[in-house]
Amino acid sequence: MGWIELKNVTKRFGQVLAVDRLSLEINAGEFLTLLGPSGCGKTTVLRIIAGLEIPDEGEIKIGEKTVFSSREGIFVPPGKRDIGLVFQSYALWPHLTIFQNVAFGLQIQKINSNIIKQKVATILSYMHLQGIENRYPQELSGGQQQRVALARMLVTRPSIFLMDEPLSNLDAKLRMEMRTEIKRIHRESKATTIYVTHDQTEALTLSSLVAVMDKGRLQQIAPPLQLYKRPANLFVADFIGSPTMNFIPGKIVKKDGQFLLDAKNFFLPIPPLENLRGKRVIAAIRPEEIQILKNEEPETLSGEVYSVLPSGAETLIQVKTEENLFNIRILEEISFDIGEKVSLKLAKDSILFYDQETGNLISPMDRVNKE
Ligand code: ATP
Repeated sequence: MGWIELKNVTKRFGQVLAVDRLSLEINAGEFLTLLGPSGCGKTTVLRIIAGLEIPDEGEIKIGEKTVFSSREGIFVPPGKRDIGLVFQSYALWPHLTIFQNVAFGLQIQKINSNIIKQKVATILSYMHLQGIENRYPQELSGGQQQRVALARMLVTRPSIFLMDEPLSNLDAKLRMEMRTEIKRIHRESKATTIYVTHDQTEALTLSSLVAVMDKGRLQQIAPPLQLYKRPANLFVADFIGSPTMNFIPGKIVKKDGQFLLDAKNFFLPIPPLENLRGKRVIAAIRPEEIQILKNEEPETLSGEVYSVLPSGAETLIQVKTEENLFNIRILEEISFDIGEKVSLKLAKDSILFYDQETGNLISPMDRVNKE
């Protein structure tokens, strides 16, 4: 129990194609985050899995049970899917105390009242909410209410957790703490979790798998590190990472035995890519894969410092070359003057190449040097 499968799920709202032929397999115990810009269809997918929205087409299985099939005319209502839900709007019952709100799901299961007390106390302390059991929701801050909603879902230990931006109302410090708690509870409960957020840090830190969506379509599904290191297409490459990757369009050429990216006004040294010779690509490189040098060296690009943003542990620097504005991240505090002349050294082997026509990553297989 606990695994979820979506096959070719499509949902339209009038003219809007909110979810477009989405297929996903989520193993039991996985923590999958749906990530993407506003309006990409994340919430709709979650509501479809919960049974709160009926797709136009497709099939959904939870464990061995088909809970939706357009072909076979099956639709299992939300209450019969054994899932816990927390939405951004947390809808606590205003006439019940915090204790009663959290205990409600357990009381329905007719659990012994001493055990209920114990379970509620434990989950409230996990959520940093001790001492407010007898208050009413309207006597709490938005962030506290949101944590009560989380506690209410987590306490019943459903085999599937669905969460839609459950930390959106919390300040930065509390959000960090709650992420840790959610991760800990997930590890302990091993409940299959689907989490919706537009916050990439949240997605990358919490999840075992991240599914990036755009305009109702799945763009890539991968573990966080893979998503960061090898974005499958230009949309994901541009969406993941802050500051964003640096993109340089050009053509792969070979000159005097050396491979270069001919980017019109400059040549960028690249690894030997015999089979990509003559191809128009977009080279992409992360800000932390670029070094800034005070002196010119071979195989560097010259430019001048455009902006410097120190932030304690790291410094974000923009350098303007003739054609591009490069984002660079240095993992230390370092000072440069605006306008200072510098050279950039790009870590050749960390450059990814995307097909200019399709926008897709050119895989390492295609990059094999056939010389
Ligand atoms: P956000 O991060 O802003 O919550 P989202 O990625 O969760 O966005 P959805 O809420 O799933 O996106 O919406 C996907 C698309 O479907 C949007 O264009 C939205 O306007 C549309 N949509 C969602 N629900 C409805 C509805 N009930 N009626 C009409 N259109 C809807």
